[in-house]
Amino acid sequence: MIRLAGRLSVVRPSASIEISGRAATMRAEGIDVISLSQGEPDFETPVAIREAAKAALDAGETRYTAVDGTPALKRAIVEKFRRDNGLAYRTDEISVGAGGKQVIFNALMALVDPGDEVIFAAPHWVSYPDMVRLAGGTPVAVPCPAETGFKLTPTQLQAAITPKTRVLILNSPGNPTGAGYTRSELVALAAVLLDHPDIVVLTDDIYEYLVYDDFEFCTLAEVEPRLKSRTLTINGVSKGHAMTGWRIGFGAGPAELIRAMAVMQSQTTSNPASVSQAAAIAALAQPPDDIQRRNTIFAERRTRCAEAINAVDGLVCRLPEGAFYLFPNCEGLLGRETPEGVKIEDDRALALYLLESARVAVVPGSAFGLPGHFRISFATGTEPLLEACRRIDEACQALH
Ligand code: PLP
Repeated sequence: MIRLAGRLSVVRPSASIEISGRAATMRAEGIDVISLSQGEPDFETPVAIREAAKAALDAGETRYTAVDGTPALKRAIVEKFRRDNGLAYRTDEISVGAGGKQVIFNALMALVDPGDEVIFAAPHWVSYPDMVRLAGGTPVAVPCPAETGFKLTPTQLQAAITPKTRVLILNSPGNPTGAGYTRSELVALAAVLLDHPDIVVLTDDIYEYLVYDDFEFCTLAEVEPRLKSRTLTINGVSKGHAMTGWRIGFGAGPAELIRAMAVMQSQTTSNPASVSQAAAIAALAQPPDDIQRRNTIFAERRTRCAEAINAVDGLVCRLPEGAFYLFPNCEGLLGRETPEGVKIEDDRALALYLLESARVAVVPGSAFGLPGHFRISFATGTEPLLEACRRIDEACQALH
């Protein structure tokens, strides 16, 4: 038997693996499972971006590049922050990694010492606590229920800060709830942070372009320029440009932190794929109408899916400001029994029941640090999505 390193004991396998593994087995058996568990757009990467990648291949852009991004991509990112966020960065304040995930991991590895605390709102993206633990830190997940829009309030932030607090992670629009912080909400959080000059903020803006109705996306460094020198503004092309597989994410922040992140990356993966970097330049130059076209479809699915879920007895769901997730509360169904006489004890049991009986895969809220809910991704075709809602309704009605 191989003895594995102790550090693995701090990383938990994703709680969604049980559901997705079971869904994959059912599919392999020929069962028609509708998966609402994926965290990626169902659209293809736009043609212009794919063409740019092909051109880069033909031009021989197939070698190592600078570790944390080519100068051309860094310039395109500088321009993106100027154009979209009114933020002025130099190229030595930009880091490019293999997805937003690597950028966040590099930043935590560069900032967190053993015992340091990292605050974030719960429900949260599955990776934050595990990344913090891998960096030796202590995750501080602050419960943020639906009543406050799943968002961290200034009072909660103030109460969570201790002398050990090193980093705050802010994710807006967020995974798994789609909750987006308004300008005034960010101003209020910034007021707390101004009193704590040692805290570094990571803003995970990966869903920036996926916002609905009149929601205005804002990011902390823009809203409170006095925090810019200790904020890493993180973004990427995965979600907004339908490029999850290309693995390009980026961060903008103080040059000192950017240099430390490059050291981490240089001893782990080196540069992100050269061809993907060329494709990302094309993505950042994409006209907004292309993003708008996809958003119109997402917005319609969001409304129709939320209506269908809210019509189910026992489920309640708020309309998210952004991203492509709904996060219904299912507490009304807990304690009920399936037709086979099995008691639905928690959100995990409900997700398994929906998979077995409705053939719909959703992710239990406990995977994101807020039990009593589940996550639906509406990044799937409109017809299968509505069919899934119909099946969920039928399965929930069968509970007594
Ligand atoms: N941050 C959040 C909140 C996410 O949901 C994801 C992906 O699911 C990421 C970061 C990572 O994105 P990427 O695919 O660019 O690594």
